[in-house]
Amino acid sequence: MPRGNISKSDFSYSFFYSIDNRMQLPFFLAKRFVAGEDLAQAVPKVKELNNKGISVTLDLLGENVTDRETADATTLEYRELLDGIRLEQLDATISIKLTMLGLDIDTEYSRENLGRLLDKARELDQFVRIDMEGSDYTQRTLDLFFDARKKYGRHVGIVIQAYLYRSREDVAALVQDGADVRLCKGAYNEPSSLVYKNMAEIRAVFKEYASELMKSTDNTRIATHDDHLIAWTKKYAEENSIPKEKFEFQMLYGLRLSTCEDLVKDGYRVRVYVPYGTMWLPYFSRRLRERKENIWFILTNMLKK
Ligand SMILES: Cc1cc2nc3c(=O)[nH]c(=O)nc-3n(C[C@H](O)[C@H](O)[C@H](O)COP(=O)(O)OP(=O)(O)OC[C@H]3O[C@@H](n4cnc5c(N)ncnc54)[C@H](O)[C@@H]3O)c2cc1C
Repeated sequence: MPRGNISKSDFSYSFFYSIDNRMQLPFFLAKRFVAGEDLAQAVPKVKELNNKGISVTLDLLGENVTDRETADATTLEYRELLDGIRLEQLDATISIKLTMLGLDIDTEYSRENLGRLLDKARELDQFVRIDMEGSDYTQRTLDLFFDARKKYGRHVGIVIQAYLYRSREDVAALVQDGADVRLCKGAYNEPSSLVYKNMAEIRAVFKEYASELMKSTDNTRIATHDDHLIAWTKKYAEENSIPKEKFEFQMLYGLRLSTCEDLVKDGYRVRVYVPYGTMWLPYFSRRLRERKENIWFILTNMLKK
């Protein structure tokens, strides 16, 4: 059963877009960034990271589900993933996308599905982070998050994208709430009316929001591979006597593992976001768009096959 459609706005590369609906690209292309096509394939990779002292966020790939049957099945699959984490004794939590739970179908319906998942998370003393998707979803995602926070407290967290102009106000509301926030730059192709495009500006607001969150909450997640921001975070924490247990660095599977290992050695908390599943194309295309060198990596691998 297909687990989602792919939005055109997600693609910079017409090559991928022209064949997206058939999803016929072979998995070996994605394996640098995606841990496997099912949980069984991802588990050994999670254990390997855990053995290095690195925690994991598991992400069952997919987005923009348009029928209830698929959204129901996905909700069930997420609940089973929480059971799987316990069974395998993984040091892992999960991340979800609300469009996988039916946000494109009906907001109330996705709220119910989120509730079903969070009931399970609370029962298992687990944690679910709601990833932030494109700007069409920002307000609804935050509304559903704040609503879920009232009922599920520390079992749910959210993501803020520093590139969005609106994030200053959202960060203030999240600080007030004491929320568990992952701060990232933002990965979607957004219009310049909504986002900063210039890297110096994005870094500046990233630092501003990170400092707001780090000084007022105990669980800021700094999600970046950017050496400049990593160094800044360490320095800011040191200068403001923020203990290493009170924040966490987060990176994506397949990127900068040695940096993660060095951070662990230096006593920092580190978590790697590990995606798996068959619906990897939108995620994979965002990773390529972020860094053109990755296209060479993929092409070289294609030629080796
Ligand atoms: C744990 C985690 C969760 C995230 N969740 C979300 C989310 O919910 N919503 C959302 O919009 N975005 C999310 N993102 C993506 C994020 O918004 C950025 O698009 C992405 O992290 C690239 O920005 P950067 O700061 O890491 O690095 P950049 O400024 O892009 O690059 C800095 C350096 O990092 C390395 N690097 C960065 N990206 C790549 C890459 N693709 N391939 C190879 N090397 C690379 C390179 O060395 C590069 O020079 C998440 C990122 C992380 C790490």
